[in-house]
Parts: sequence; structure tokens; C-alpha cells
Amino acid sequence: MALWFREEASPGHRLEWKVRRVLHSGRSAYQEITVVETEDFGPTLALDGIVQTTAKDEFIYHEMMALVPLTAHPAPERVLIIGGGDGGLAREVLRCPWVREVTLVEIDPEVVEVSKRFLPGHAVSFADPRLTVRFQDGARYLEELPAGEAFDVILVDSTDPEGEGPGRTLYAPPFRRQVLRALREGGLFVQQTGTPFYNPDTVREVSQDSLAVFPVVRVYWCVVPTYPGGLFTFLAAGRGTDPSQPRRPVTWETRWYSEAVHRASFVLPPLLADLVPRVVQVAQQR
Ligand code: SAM
Repeated sequence: MALWFREEASPGHRLEWKVRRVLHSGRSAYQEITVVETEDFGPTLALDGIVQTTAKDEFIYHEMMALVPLTAHPAPERVLIIGGGDGGLAREVLRCPWVREVTLVEIDPEVVEVSKRFLPGHAVSFADPRLTVRFQDGARYLEELPAGEAFDVILVDSTDPEGEGPGRTLYAPPFRRQVLRALREGGLFVQQTGTPFYNPDTVREVSQDSLAVFPVVRVYWCVVPTYPGGLFTFLAAGRGTDPSQPRRPVTWETRWYSEAVHRASFVLPPLLADLVPRVVQVAQQR
């Protein structure tokens, strides 16, 4: 009898992955952590029953979340990652030779431990001397950040705001003001804003809330086969730098990101454009 991992994308839509074996299953202080070896996507991490990342297609999400801001920013040296406990985003950030230091603030130490054991392709980043890992709520970390300490790029690679998980604090409006305070001049902020087919309110509310805080607000997208509906969005906001224009080339091999894809990812199909405020749509068309 085959074993399947089932994710409920909505009350009316389920996704299932055929499982070769269960690598880890347990509850941390924050969430249910599951790692399964799936037939089609390899090792797959799920938190509270929601697939976060798979060995087969994680590169798309991590390349797009890292390389869009890190090639658009004129001189990104200090990067903050909130969430990202699987290590995949940090790996892509650390491939940029111009990045000097990365601080990763992950609320759940067990996610890092499980990723080191079962997602070695993601967790390779944890050996990089430029990376500092802190175990703390990302919103609290920013609240307590000493004045004057700031970053060139801040990336929020957290679980979704829906449900009872720890990600909710990172989508509340006050969090955005903390991000602005922690950004250096020209700094850029990127946050995952989910799959608009299932949670259109996330990209709608996050882009609306961000307009009240950041001078620049943009939305871009990519396709992640694992995520429900495939279509996935990111908010990119900042103090002035336009995230849609790459300023420096990526000279290493990538499998999704290119300069052309970078620019094209900010062209929103009407379905997506209708979810973001008009002022964002107009700015994206310039
Ligand atoms: N790539 C995934 C996605 O697209 O949804 C996210 C992967 S990563 C595993 C998500 C991480 O965010 C988890 O390890 C979770 O523990 C962490 N997280 C959630 N809320 C957090 C918070 N408030 N502060 C810090 N980390 C948080």
C-alpha cells in the first residue's frame, strides 16, 4: 500500500506526494516538522502540514528571492534573513561574492537541525563563515536591534501568515516599520507573499501596508511547482532602489534566474496586477 504526504491547499483542493520513506516527524516548540523522501521531489520539508521546500524545485524560489534584490542593490554587503531555517536562501545569498556578512534569524532551532540532517543541499550554507545564525522571533530581533545597526538587504523567508504558526508576526503592519528602520540608505526588503490563487489577500494586504511605509513598493513572481497553483509572489520594497532593474551580472550558473527573467518577473499578468494597488502597477510599467 503506497504512502502519500497530503497537503490541504484549501478545503476544496489537496496536493499529494508519493512517499518512499519518512525521514523525520515530530513537534517542536513552534510547529509540526516533517521530512519525507518523495518519489518525484526528493527530500521534502513540511511545517504544520504545509510543504516548505523540496530538493527538486527549491532553486527557483531561492534564486529569485536572493538574486533579484542582490543584483538590483548597488552595493549589498550586509544581509538579514528572517526565517529560512532550511538554509536554501542563505546558500543562494552566500553565492554572491559581494556579500560580506549574513545574519539568519530563525525562530525554531529544530528546523535548522533537521535540515542539516536531511536537506544537505540546502544546509550547506551553515558552514559558511560569513553566516551568523540566531534563534529568535524575527519581529522581536528587529525590535531589539540597536540603533545604527542596519542592513543593505532584508529577506523574510518565513512560513505563511495564515493559521497559528509563528509567521504571523512578520506580516503585521508594525513589522514593516521595524524593517524600514533596519534598512540602510538604498536598502531593499523582500518578503514571500504566497500563492495568489489560494491566498490573494496576502499579496494584496502586504503591498497595501507597505505603501504606507516604503518609498518604493513592487511585486514580482515566479513559478514553484511544489506550491499550490505553482504561481508564487514576492513583495520587494525599499528606500529608493528600484528592485526590478539588475545592476550587476550573475557570473555563476543558475537554473532559473537570469537578467531577462529578473526584469520579466516584475511584469504582472492582470490577475496579479489587480491584487496590488494602482500606484504599484503604474510604477512597475515605467
Ligand atoms: N521557503 C519557504 C516558503 O516559501 O514558505 C519557507 C521556508 S523556511 C523553512 C520558513 C521558516 O520560517 C521556518 O523555519 C520557520 O520556523 C521560520 N519562521 C516562521 N516564523 C518566524 C518568525 N516569527 N521569526 C523567525 N523565523 C520564523
